[in-house]
Amino acid sequence: RPPAPRPAATRVFVVANQKGGVGKTTSTVNVAAGLAQLGQRVLVIDLDPQGNASTALNVEHRQGTASVYDALVEGTPLEEIMVPCPDVPDLFVVPATIDLAGAEIELVSVVARENRLSKAIAAHPRIGAAAALGEDRFDYVIIDCPPSLGLLTLNALVAGEEMMIPIQAEYYALEGLSQLLATVDMVRAHLNPALAISTILVTMYDARTRLAAGVAEEVRAHFGEQVLRTMIPRSVRVSEAPSYAQTVVTYDPGSSGALSYLEAAREIAAKGVTS
Ligand code: ADP
Ligand code: MG
Repeated sequence: RPPAPRPAATRVFVVANQKGGVGKTTSTVNVAAGLAQLGQRVLVIDLDPQGNASTALNVEHRQGTASVYDALVEGTPLEEIMVPCPDVPDLFVVPATIDLAGAEIELVSVVARENRLSKAIAAHPRIGAAAALGEDRFDYVIIDCPPSLGLLTLNALVAGEEMMIPIQAEYYALEGLSQLLATVDMVRAHLNPALAISTILVTMYDARTRLAAGVAEEVRAHFGEQVLRTMIPRSVRVSEAPSYAQTVVTYDPGSSGALSYLEAAREIAAKGVTS
């Protein structure tokens, strides 16, 4: 596989959509594995108390395990928490445990509570400009958000530069997006002017239905250039991979789902910030 060029500085992606079940976690872990296969060094931050990304990447996330909770609430450095994904070289994970469920409430009384993740990422010795850091810097940080617009997602939106919004190719796909976009506008105005919606990924696309094609067209009409050409097909292999603690990229590398995620990763690597 020809490697993709490494970016000049770490690109921090926030994978968000307050709707559940649209493919946030699936896209996070598979784009991450795809990028790693293209020669990129990748850090996934699991920011969902469910820990689904931690499960798919085969890292320990029992209650009490050092996790993103410790970074947010205790200020523990991310480099002390991150662990290598055992199945994908160059892919590291900051796991989430169920402890994170309490973090939104515990953080309410903390000063600058929406900046906690941003601070943690900025303090990481391997995140930043490539020129200053050398070979073992991270090229990508990908943050998997929970299905809500609460304080955890807000922390991610303040910490990231680029947003990836997965949109499921189904009838109500665009419903609820206005709320997400309003939140992004609010974050840009008050907390993180640099935040850009760089990447829209159409997921669970069923090429046999006119409905899916219609939805994809609508998404393209709305977001234009930001929509990746690659769409992720609906596939049983994609949905069964997590039950083996795998990404589909490692579980069934030749499957349509794996190849699509690899292609999506290639597009992302080839594309800079566009908005
Ligand atoms: P979210 O993180 O947005 O809640 P998930 O990534 O967990 O969404 O996906 C929701 C469900 O859909 C999961 O069971 C997942 O395995 C399944 N799924 C995601 N993408 C696909 C796909 N391309 N084909 C089939 N099933 C998928
Ligand atoms: Mg999820």
